Amino acid sequence: KLNFKDTYSSLTSSEIVAKEQSNMDDARFQHCVRVSETARKLAELNNYDPDKAALAGFVHDYAKQVPVEEYIKVIKTKNFDQDLLNWSRAIWHGIIGTYFIQHDLRIDDPEIIQAVNRHTTADVEMTTLDKIVYMADYIEPGRDFPGVEEARKITYKNLDAGVGYQLAHTLEYLIEHRSKIYPRTLEAYNVWSVK
Ligand code: GDP
Ligand code: FE
Ligand code: FE
Ligand code: FE
Repeated sequence: KLNFKDTYSSLTSSEIVAKEQSNMDDARFQHCVRVSETARKLAELNNYDPDKAALAGFVHDYAKQVPVEEYIKVIKTKNFDQDLLNWSRAIWHGIIGTYFIQHDLRIDDPEIIQAVNRHTTADVEMTTLDKIVYMADYIEPGRDFPGVEEARKITYKNLDAGVGYQLAHTLEYLIEHRSKIYPRTLEAYNVWSVK
């Protein structure tokens, strides 16, 4: 079922699947499979290449469980903004996750890399693939939170409206828990959610 075009990596799709499986626990792996399937569906509805969306969705959380010490080493040695040291894996696994995806999975396609980079925070500008991965992550069938049914309904009807819904609800959640807001999340909220 997981069979990706070999155009995006020098690795075969079974090598990509095996590497991903060995980089995370089973619950996270199953989430990635469901995000891949949801991304494929959203691509079909929004005139985007379903195979490319499925691959981007599959790898989006590749680096979610990479040890913190490894992230810190990469931030310090690979030309990342040193301000990232003030954040945590919630923010790192998208923005710096791209480093591990390029290095380990040999995926260099700029659209896929950007969609992974933006999948947690969103951004002021979002391509169709960015939106597909961002929303597939939020509404995949394993998600269960108050409002997820409405999020699904809105997103299947209008992808942009889904982005606005998610950003508003994420911001509410972060504020309610007194969590630090990444500036890009707030900038994206101002573009996609403010009425
Ligand atoms: P997951 O990797 O599938 O669990 O989903 P995401 O990558 O979308 O999100 C990871 C976590 O980052 C979630 O708990 C979000 O609420 C959180 N998150 C998103 N934006 C921000 C932000 O601006 N600041 C902080 N502290 N967390 C955020
Ligand atoms: Fe994620
Ligand atoms: Fe997300
Ligand atoms: Fe995810």
